[in-house]
Order: sequence, then C-alpha cells, then structure tokens
Amino acid sequence: MERRIDFARDRHMLCPACGHRWLVDLDWIDRWEQAQETCPGCDVTCEHEDSPRVTVDPDDLALDDDRVAQLSWYHTSTQPDWPTRDFDPASALTAEIRTTMGGDEGLAKWAATQQAKALHAGTYEAAVHNMLRWMRDQADRSRQFYLYRLHLQPSVVVRDGWVIDPADFAGNVALDNVCPPGVDVARYLNYHEAPGGISLALGRDAIARVQRISVPLPGARGDGWVRDAVAALVDAAGTTAPPTGRCRSRRSSAPTSPRVLTAKKLATALAARLPINLRSEFESAAAFTEGDDPVKWARRTSGLCDLIEDPRPALAALDRQGHRQV
Ligand SMILES: [Zn+2]
Repeated sequence: MERRIDFARDRHMLCPACGHRWLVDLDWIDRWEQAQETCPGCDVTCEHEDSPRVTVDPDDLALDDDRVAQLSWYHTSTQPDWPTRDFDPASALTAEIRTTMGGDEGLAKWAATQQAKALHAGTYEAAVHNMLRWMRDQADRSRQFYLYRLHLQPSVVVRDGWVIDPADFAGNVALDNVCPPGVDVARYLNYHEAPGGISLALGRDAIARVQRISVPLPGARGDGWVRDAVAALVDAAGTTAPPTGRCRSRRSSAPTSPRVLTAKKLATALAARLPINLRSEFESAAAFTEGDDPVKWARRTSGLCDLIEDPRPALAALDRQGHRQV
C-alpha cells in the first residue's frame, strides 16, 4: 500500500521544555535553524540546549501496528543486490587494512559487528533524501544508485511505539539494540531524512521481497531542459571565467571553470523549485566536475529533480519490475 508522497508536507514540532506541540512548514524550520523563530509556548530558540525538534505526525499510518507490514517501504543504495545475502563486509578490504585491523581475530570481530547492523527502510521521501545526502560526496556522486521498494513479511512482529532515531554518528544501528528477541521491526523517528517521518530498523528476515529500479530515471523532464542545459554548457566551454573582482589570494585553488559555474547556476535554478530543506543537498548532488559529460550531467540532474517533483514515473517503473524474494 502506497502512502501519499509529499516532500513539502508540514511537520509537527514538540518542545521538551514546555510541552507545546504545533505544526510548521519547512520554511519555518529553516528560519528556526537560523534562530529566527521561537517556541510559541516558551519562546526558546534553537540555541537552547533542550530546544524543540520535529516529532512524529500522530496520524502517520506507520504508527498503526497492523499497517506496518502492508505499507510500501523504500531504501536507496549503490548495492545492486541489497539486502545482500551472505554479506561479507571484509571482502573489500585490502591486505594492509586487514593487518591494521588486528589480523584475522580483529577482522572477525569487526565483521560480526557489521553483520549485526540493522537495515533501514523509510518512506519514499526519506529514501530519496538519503540518496541526495550520499551524493554530496564526490566519490558517491558518480556511482549508480538503486531505489528499492520493500514488501515486509506479513507476519512481522513490530516493536511497540517508536524510538528516537537510534543511529550513531556514522548512521549505524545494532539490530539487537532496537529489536529485542522476538521483535522483527522497530519504528524510529527519523531526524535526518525527511525529518519527522517514521523509518524502520529491521533485519533481513523481516523482508519478504524487493523491487528495484536504477535512479535517477532517464530524463522525463522534457528533453527541453536537458537540451537547453547542454547548449549552455557547450557555450560556456568557449568562454573564459568572468573576473571575480577580488584579488586572488595565494591559497586559492585553480579558478572555477566557466562550465562549472554555468552548471552551478542551472542546478541552483532547479533547486529553487524544491522544498527548502533539500536545496543545498540537491545542489551538492548535482555538482559538475570539470571533464563531466554535459549530456550525462544534464540528464542525471534533471532526473534527480524529477524524483522529487514528480515521483509517479519512478513508482510506475517500480510497478513494472518483478519481485525478488529476499
Ligand atoms: Zn517551549
């Protein structure tokens, strides 16, 4: 069962200091994070140590225990066979790293910790947001990402209620910490992706089957935008960088190329159409690196924006995929 997808939905806020609950839009949260808004109940700002945060929507369908297994859940990953069976986290380590990690014994301990990690799934919005956050990193930007739709085992046992986002600084959660024996799935309030939504920490056995598509999809945004963007990038290659009006300091790196600047302007203009909490991550995910192919860049950037502005083609593409038993 699909839920309504809305990246710009209003969020529920809860103030631990005075207990006030209220509804805000994303622009309010943006001003709040700059200390330009206060709690309507007690006037604290975000700088207060016990300041208000987003909380769950009491009408969220995922709070209904019986619905959890009926809902569609999503995950984005660069792994083509997520959730990988017989996952061997040590397979990608070099001999040198293996030695620094304490040889076979240290490695076995580390691998056991890795294998005990919970898997994560969330709303479509959270999965797409998660991908944008990964793409801020240049090395990940060039990798192929996949959007997975998960169908849980109908018999999963869901932990009562929900917990606060349990991830450590690296985003990891040990499954045993959130799912005691006999429990398959724990709901948590996600602070980082689609903040305020419910995500799941779960083990592989809780998933019955998955569907997968490569994302972003080939540009559906009218090829008009792609064509114009490519033309602007090709034109830019023939110009020289405009003067910045500043003396170049000794520490400055190579001047930014006109093509990189043009791509930045194009991405900023697209980002301005997105909800405010996604703009800076979208712009980073759409950064152009000198040497990138303008056509590929424009298609990918346009496709990323489409995943947010109009999720229907992605959902339709998922519908056409077969199911893989997990
Ligand atoms: Zn308050």
